[in-house]
Amino acid sequence: MFRVSAFRSPPRIRPTLQANTMSVQVAVAAAVAGIGVYALYLRRNNSAQDGKPIFSSFGFHSLPLHSTELINHNTKRLRFELPDKSQASGLSLTSALLTVSFPNGGWIPVLRPYTPVNDLDEPGFVELLVKHYPGGKQSTHLHSMKPGDRLTFAPIKEFAWTPNKHAHMGLIAGGAGITPMYQLARGILRNPDDQTRVTLVWGVNTDADIFLKDEFAALEKAYPGRFKAVYVVATPDPGSPHQKGFVTKQILEKAGLNPRDEKNKDIKILVCGPPPMEKALKGAKGWMGGASKGVLAELGYRQDQIHSF
Ligand SMILES: Cc1cc2nc3c(=O)[nH]c(=O)nc-3n(C[C@H](O)[C@H](O)[C@H](O)COP(=O)(O)OP(=O)(O)OC[C@H]3O[C@@H](n4cnc5c(N)ncnc54)[C@H](O)[C@@H]3O)c2cc1C
Repeated sequence: MFRVSAFRSPPRIRPTLQANTMSVQVAVAAAVAGIGVYALYLRRNNSAQDGKPIFSSFGFHSLPLHSTELINHNTKRLRFELPDKSQASGLSLTSALLTVSFPNGGWIPVLRPYTPVNDLDEPGFVELLVKHYPGGKQSTHLHSMKPGDRLTFAPIKEFAWTPNKHAHMGLIAGGAGITPMYQLARGILRNPDDQTRVTLVWGVNTDADIFLKDEFAALEKAYPGRFKAVYVVATPDPGSPHQKGFVTKQILEKAGLNPRDEKNKDIKILVCGPPPMEKALKGAKGWMGGASKGVLAELGYRQDQIHSF
């Protein structure tokens, strides 16, 4: 009897579940289609707007690719032209750009954020550094683009920075998570009204994954005592000048990011990296009490001192 009733109840439940699942699917499909149609519309409507910088307010805009440069084994610099060569993008520190594409002429849009790395006040261009993930939808599409091809963008505000908001910023990046850190470090250091110190700790897999090294070296030279970059390499080349391993408590202390130090009384930590790195740094809630505290809490950081991109 029990079995029969157990097997009889599903037919009454299933239509509701199916209806719910279908309505979610329909809603998701409608939302994706809506964004797609809007992006398609804008793809055909290039978009200088009332003399205002193009990304000073939300909206989708199509930009042509100006040039590309392969900067290491898997990362390309893509430089896009703004419609008005005399104006900067209007993006604020820090911002990303949501990219919309229709790879291989498909109908379903692919949306992914990328972080501009050229100076935000540079007129005429926005520049992205895109790491290629094999099989990755958007990164494969972006790496296949040729000068003249167009891509649709919309601005997204990220961590909002005001000059001297904190005395010291600790930027901890993993892999391609370096791009928002680079935008912020440059934005802070190049502003003569901002005296914030910046310490970058960047964890990568191999020496070949380190790009922007010359740019960071130039910042260290131009702003001695205010900027320092520390590289940590999981599998370094023989003779590599960099520390081996992952971003640990010891590495952060050695880099000068101990929150208990007097000079770190007003420090803020930003984290941007792959999920395993973020988990190691910020901890994780585990099943059955197996939670991990995370390297930053072990060092003494409070939750409100940590921000994740
Ligand atoms: C705010 C923000 C800013 C970003 N800025 C940049 C940037 O400036 N430059 C840049 O290259 N990327 C940046 N990213 C990541 C980017 O948005 C995409 O997630 C990334 O390019 C992969 O997209 P995809 O469509 O190629 O891969 P998908 O099709 O989404 O994924 C395919 C496979 O690729 C692998 N993969 C995807 N993403 C990652 C990852 N982050 N780490 C490890 N493996 C991964 C996985 O195996 C996944 O299964 C940023 C992300 C965020 C949230």
